[in-house]
Amino acid sequence: MNPTKRRTVIAGNWKMNFTPAEATAFINEVKPLVAGKDNCDVIFCAPYVTIAAAQEAAKGSNIKIGAENVHFAEKGAYTGEVSAQMLTACGVEYVIIGHSERRQYFGETDETVNLRTKAALAAGMKVILCLGEVKEQRLSGITDEVVAMQTKLDLLGVTADQMKNVIIAYEPVWAIGTGLTATPEQAEETCGVIRKTLAALYGEEVAEATTIQYGGSMNEKNAGELLAKPNVDGGLIGGASLVAEKFKAIVDAAQ
Ligand code: PEP
Repeated sequence: MNPTKRRTVIAGNWKMNFTPAEATAFINEVKPLVAGKDNCDVIFCAPYVTIAAAQEAAKGSNIKIGAENVHFAEKGAYTGEVSAQMLTACGVEYVIIGHSERRQYFGETDETVNLRTKAALAAGMKVILCLGEVKEQRLSGITDEVVAMQTKLDLLGVTADQMKNVIIAYEPVWAIGTGLTATPEQAEETCGVIRKTLAALYGEEVAEATTIQYGGSMNEKNAGELLAKPNVDGGLIGGASLVAEKFKAIVDAAQ
């Protein structure tokens, strides 16, 4: 973590959890626990239908509410999708794009992730761009190549100036929701590969300024060690973002 150069961001990904009433209750519970923790940004990315309730409950606090995906078209015949224009009209600033569950279960590719990223940025949103290797790729020793290629493909056509609105979440797929966590050394090494790739694409200044989170079974026990690594600038948190005390402990570890 290097607070002088880049912002630490702790973001929760609620996935398909919390009704509006549950989201309200959760935000009311977590709000006092993270109040005043100004050394990091605190975000919860919510299902579309709970965003408004979460925003209302988070009013006046340091918690920001984001979305979990966005479509690349402005509007049209895309049943079930939501555009960046719709999200910004609802006051939504942050959006997760390219989560491995979207890639794995909903057929998203680096190409659609890239299109969604460019659309969100063009609409003025801040993107949490997820990428990471699957287990077989890590075991085959090709993690570095995989994440470098994903970084390049997912950011194709994104300008250096737009990079100030991009957060990258390095999420080894084998660690998501499995209880298996990358070691702090693995997280540091692979976040470092992503940063090097950004430097090659955009130059050192942009690379040094870009927040790169780790995600994958980060919890109240392992967050301290992971966040202590110089290239790990925060966390994207699934399971532990549904439990106020666990999430608070992660925010505390980021202070
Ligand atoms: C995620 O969904 O982005 C994630 C990291 O989940 P978990 O923390 O549950 O592994």
